[in-house]
Amino acid sequence: MRTARYGVGVRRRLEKIEQLRSQKYKCPQCRKLSMKRLYSGVWTCKRCGLEIADGAYTMTVKSLS
Ligand SMILES: [Zn+2]
Repeated sequence: MRTARYGVGVRRRLEKIEQLRSQKYKCPQCRKLSMKRLYSGVWTCKRCGLEIADGAYTMTVKSLS
């Protein structure tokens, strides 16, 4: 598990946040598009209940899809 890093890249990332935080993500456990941002840094799967602590606005598991 990696910790969220804030630095020079954060401003550029902010431009994408509006799209990303309304986007659905694939759950790494049940592989359904049921991941939703519960609150900053925590994502939860509505289907299997999996919770993931990750970056405040994006998920690294997105790359699994
Ligand atoms: Zn799931």
